Amino acid sequence: MSSVRPRNRVRNPEAVRILELTCDEFIEEAAGSGISRPKALDAYRALFRRGERTDDWFEVEEMPLTRTQTEGRTIKFTLATDGGEETESVLIPMKRREGGFSRTLCVSSQIGCAMGCGFCETAQMGLVRNLSAGQIVAQWLAARHLLGHEVKNIVFMGMGEPMDNLDQVLQAIRVLTDHNGPSIASGNVTISTVGRIDGIRRLGEFVRTTGFHRLNLAVSVNAPDDEVRSRLMPINRGMDMTALREALLEFPLHGGAALLVEYVLIPGVNDSDRQCDRLCEWLEPLRCSLNVIPYNPRRDSPWSAPDEADVQRFVDRAMEHGQFVKRRGTKGRDVMAACGQLGNPEVRRASRTRSGGTR
Ligand code: SAH
Repeated sequence: MSSVRPRNRVRNPEAVRILELTCDEFIEEAAGSGISRPKALDAYRALFRRGERTDDWFEVEEMPLTRTQTEGRTIKFTLATDGGEETESVLIPMKRREGGFSRTLCVSSQIGCAMGCGFCETAQMGLVRNLSAGQIVAQWLAARHLLGHEVKNIVFMGMGEPMDNLDQVLQAIRVLTDHNGPSIASGNVTISTVGRIDGIRRLGEFVRTTGFHRLNLAVSVNAPDDEVRSRLMPINRGMDMTALREALLEFPLHGGAALLVEYVLIPGVNDSDRQCDRLCEWLEPLRCSLNVIPYNPRRDSPWSAPDEADVQRFVDRAMEHGQFVKRRGTKGRDVMAACGQLGNPEVRRASRTRSGGTR
């Protein structure tokens, strides 16, 4: 028996890769290798529940833990991929109503990102590559069994645009919610998107047809109108706020669920009273919770972080419109682990050198 700590082994392309498979899929693949159902089930449970690798006939994607950085109870960690790059993930403490706290794991769906949002650190890297479902699940495995933390919620708010890698993201969610695996409740999983409308529709279809109807959708709106949004987020030039709202209105919401609308508050860009009013008008027909995120300056940022008083003013004003509002904390700022601060400039440089391009 060995732990999930990766060892140096030559990869067998035939091996069953457990992290990208649901338990049923794993059992089926194992059968193809002559492994009985009970044996496969035991192996699956041992890995996900106890972090134990009981056999050699399957492969756990090798992703060594390369770094952990801690600020208070927030932990940022990186895992190496076989391509020599790194995933970045963050464990965030969330206060519980009944006291104590639980942990949310923020995972990356890509290394880098192609969306080019002006305020985001990850965008500065450009897209390096998509992560596989197994590499996404590996982030949970490391959090749970290498770092030893219970994970209650999973948010796809790390590096990357999940809708640009939706097949792998959905497969990762199937695994993460598997009862014999990580067993995360689907209502505790949130996909955050820059607002790719085709992706939102596909996700809507997925939640309608597969029983994942409690999956949460978050949308980074970040602006009160098309003019500001197109300046900050290139995606808006092809998919404007009118089209975005239509897609959001069609998204199936389960029971009392609401969309999460994210709004990165940047001083002098999108934080005026008038802009708050316009935003609330746009939000009016949506059943949503507005999540105001004080801007975390990226490297070489042209903007500063907002003052506490300005954040409060914006939040109060939105509330006066009858909008349900939460403000997000700034945990992890000092270790570049806060929203929009993930990304390794060295990887960007290395990938540029390799491809010889300057994307
Ligand atoms: N691509 C996805 C998920 C990753 S970003 C998306 O756009 O939603 C997760 C959240 O962090 C988004 O709401 C994004 O708008 C926000 N964000 C990005 N850069 C930020 C920054 N510098 N400060 C605060 N929040 C930021």
